[in-house]
Amino acid sequence: MALRLLMLGPPGAGKGTQAARIAGDHGVPKISTGDMLRNAVASGSSLGHLVKETVARGALVSDDVIVALVRERLTEPDTASGYVLDGFPRTVNQAEALDGLLDGAPLSVVEIRVPDDELVRRVRGRRICERCGTTVSAFDGDPSQAQACKVCGGRLVQRSDDSEQVVRDRLKVYWRETQPMIGFYEGRTTFRRVDGAQPPMAVYQAIAEAIAAMGVKG
Ligand code: AMP
Repeated sequence: MALRLLMLGPPGAGKGTQAARIAGDHGVPKISTGDMLRNAVASGSSLGHLVKETVARGALVSDDVIVALVRERLTEPDTASGYVLDGFPRTVNQAEALDGLLDGAPLSVVEIRVPDDELVRRVRGRRICERCGTTVSAFDGDPSQAQACKVCGGRLVQRSDDSEQVVRDRLKVYWRETQPMIGFYEGRTTFRRVDGAQPPMAVYQAIAEAIAAMGVKG
């Protein structure tokens, strides 16, 4: 049965990690607009050139560019049995566009909430594999210890937009532009909020229970 899930939450809430896990459980792709944009920048494509500076300073890429990217991605065959969206939508305009793309198909929405100071602490500690894009949380230990990606052995680096100043700017953007969009979903019966300040396994269980409780499939 298809699962169409939208994971909402600020940078550092753990949505990417949890989205990957839930997507794996359900055998559907995780669609992360952040990953797609980083890949475009790394490959030097025309999209990459267009968005590079915006992503580097933690601002939002224009709705038109993002919606076109997602529209195209959702035509790929692997999305036929569902997907987990991570990092899209981020504005009311994008949320409205997603409703149009869904064309009546059901959508489960889970918001992960974490206090801002904890988010900054986590994001400063995280590292990303420059080869395969896997994110490693280093906030439980010394970030300098993490050196190689457990998945592919690639080098772990800090995302250029994970510096403390850019993270604080990204959080401002989140509260200003993305949090209002949550009002678009929170009145729906298919919306749940989970406490993301718990240990990752507890957050995962809360999300899995929320998905089961919503029972949205099809
Ligand atoms: P993320 O990996 O989701 O934190 O995204 C990294 C960066 O990509 C963001 O700070 C934005 O610059 C850009 N980005 C990702 N998704 C979107 C989106 N849905 N709308 C606008 N910009 C986005």
